[in-house]
Amino acid sequence: MDLKQHIRHVPDFPKPGILFYDISTLLAHAGAWHEALNRLTETLRPYKPDVLVGIESRGFLVAAPLADRLGTGFIMVRKRGKLPGETIRHAYDLEYGEDVIEIQAEAIKPGQRVVVLDDLLATGGTMAAAVTLLEKVGADVVGIGCLIELTFLNGRKRFKMPVHSLLSYD
Ligand code: 5GP
Repeated sequence: MDLKQHIRHVPDFPKPGILFYDISTLLAHAGAWHEALNRLTETLRPYKPDVLVGIESRGFLVAAPLADRLGTGFIMVRKRGKLPGETIRHAYDLEYGEDVIEIQAEAIKPGQRVVVLDDLLATGGTMAAAVTLLEKVGADVVGIGCLIELTFLNGRKRFKMPVHSLLSYD
């Protein structure tokens, strides 16, 4: 099955000049989404993760069903102020300004094997921030996964752990 057929390309979203890869069409197609999850499940199984982490918000859509298939828990990395209780945060630079991501303080036990997931890897800035946060709380980040990778942006070069993408565009 050619899963790329299920990714919609939306020019000039969210700003003029940006080509947006829309995963809504993949999620909406039962067979294609099932196949995408099947493939990622088998790719990530050898990492024997203890937990899967999803990055807000589309990373949740990927990580939660995969966690169920792999028999692991699912943990959220969220934007500032969304998680109740004690949180650990990491601030990172954006093109203009900064952003803050958080995780619940007790979510991960030191040394747990973690695979982090998002829908798309572009510059890798978002994923790198999540990996830094996870390492701050003692996670052993053993792998990274995404549905789509924009290979021409070389985001994967930021990471010492393996990066797996289902579909890549160059
Ligand atoms: P990066 O930080 O790697 O430059 O950008 C990746 C982040 O931006 C991801 O969290 C992803 O959800 C979002 N993103 C950037 N461009 C796109 C796109 O074309 N399609 C989708 N679905 N997400 C994008």
